[in-house]
Amino acid sequence: MSEATGSGKMAHVAFLGLGHMGGPMAVNLVKAGYTVAGFDVVPAALDAARGHGIPTVATPAEAVAGADVVLTMFPSGQHVLDAYRGTDGRPGLLDVAGPDTMFLDCSTINVDEAREASALAVAAGHRAVDAPVSGGVVGAEAGTLTFMVGALPEDFDAVRPLLEVMGKRVVHCGAHGAGQAAKVCNNLILGISMIAVSEAFVLGEKLGLTHQALFDVASAASGQCWALTTNCPVPGPVPTSPANRDYQPGFAGALMAKDLKLALNALQSTGVAARMGPLASEIYDTFAAEGGAGRDFSGIITDIRDKSAH
Ligand code: NAD
Repeated sequence: MSEATGSGKMAHVAFLGLGHMGGPMAVNLVKAGYTVAGFDVVPAALDAARGHGIPTVATPAEAVAGADVVLTMFPSGQHVLDAYRGTDGRPGLLDVAGPDTMFLDCSTINVDEAREASALAVAAGHRAVDAPVSGGVVGAEAGTLTFMVGALPEDFDAVRPLLEVMGKRVVHCGAHGAGQAAKVCNNLILGISMIAVSEAFVLGEKLGLTHQALFDVASAASGQCWALTTNCPVPGPVPTSPANRDYQPGFAGALMAKDLKLALNALQSTGVAARMGPLASEIYDTFAAEGGAGRDFSGIITDIRDKSAH
């Protein structure tokens, strides 16, 4: 065990969900000297994890045995709740973990589901933290993710060193569910602003503006935003943006559609009089369904252009 694990209170990690994100995140924990027991329901994910040096086990119960932290990185909130509670008569993670285990969920899920998962964990005598990430697979591999954390202050302090191994920014957003709340609000801004930037570029094209001219003005004026200056949806002005590589790779349209569905659920459950959010959710759903699922979400501009009158 290296010194990097601190005094070792959170040294033994059960890591469940070794997919695109979980795999490289677990690798970084192993490299930092944490004792990791990895598990995934898909055998190919387990094989790949072992190939990357992550010790794996055959069942969730084996992973959780003796773990200080149960870290989950699953596709959805239903996966998290099912795994916590158990399904089909099988015991859940909450049942097989030792008392006072830290349940750390890094999946992107509904705020309400995150609160429910935390409440279940606490009711079972455990501790709970929601800590969704931004930064994508590249950030997971490089250990440069941003973690948005919902937790009691003492639990935030306890998991912080572990999160800092996998990320470069760890923000305590508030109580249980606040991490998911921050993530959903941020992605609502991102999804809508990318549509705004894309519509402006297509309008500029129609009005005879070059991409560069619009970029030079808007990037130094009140239209400035990340969707324009970092992830610019047209090739040229920002050479590193996915538009320069036919929108590959990047933040997949399917994931933006998923995250905006979570935003839509939160908007509806809180009764916010939002109009852009629901529309953006619908727009990315269509984009994903019509071939954009695997393309960077900035490819939405091609949709807007294609559907515009010529
Ligand atoms: P993924 O589908 O590649 O990985 C999820 C893994 O969880 C799969 O390997 C699946 O088999 C496994 N799994 C499901 N149920 C399980 C269970 N009960 N026990 C063990 N393993 C189980 O997805 P991903 O791209 O790694 O994303 C994971 C989460 O991170 C999602 O919530 C996603 O929204 C979020 N996220 C992804 C990205 C990204 O760029 N991929 C970026 C930010 C956040």
